[in-house]
Amino acid sequence: MRDPSSIGWEKLLDLMEGEAKKRLAPVFTLKGFLNDPFQHLVFTILSARTRDEQTVKAAGNLFKVANTPEKLAKLSEEEIATLIESAGFYRNKAKNLKAMAEILVKEYNSKVPDSFEELVKLPGVGRKTANVVLAYAFNRNTIAVDTHVHRLANRLGFVRTGKPEETEVELKKVVPPELWRKVNRVFVAFGQTVCKPIKPLCEDCPIEGVCPKLSVK
Ligand code: SF4
Repeated sequence: MRDPSSIGWEKLLDLMEGEAKKRLAPVFTLKGFLNDPFQHLVFTILSARTRDEQTVKAAGNLFKVANTPEKLAKLSEEEIATLIESAGFYRNKAKNLKAMAEILVKEYNSKVPDSFEELVKLPGVGRKTANVVLAYAFNRNTIAVDTHVHRLANRLGFVRTGKPEETEVELKKVVPPELWRKVNRVFVAFGQTVCKPIKPLCEDCPIEGVCPKLSVK
């Protein structure tokens, strides 16, 4: 079977990143918000099941009013919901954000904790969100697996898994640790712009020659 990693992980990720950047993948063009771990955390929570443009809008509205845990904790759940209503499941997210901000203020001296175990204790924070924050706000070597990463890892034949949690474990066995941080951003960007869920752009794909295209019709 064709194996994309046969060209080397570094080269593979570079080719995928280059093509995604050429196609202006949103993950590489977002600027302005992600200034600290708190904003990374809130942005990642808002982004769940939400298009990038809508996440940017919700985060922009919220950070104008509350860009710290203290300020967020002082808002009511209704006020937060109104500010983030462009995000999917905004009522639920407002509830979690309010509770999370109060916990950060009371128990963590208004700082976002930098350990996986502490992060996943916060309301609305699951494995993926915790790993995104660790990788991109704290520069830790880890792989955050969302639907794009899970889909691409299986489609390109790196793993054979049914759930994102399994994909995280299996990917960590094959990707060199020093490149773990790159995987989420590159796979998400490439999955949004080239290796799309339906009708991937195989004819224009820079790794077509080494891709097994599993389950691509
Ligand atoms: S776009 Fe096609 S060739 Fe490229 S990685 Fe996806 S399935 Fe493979």
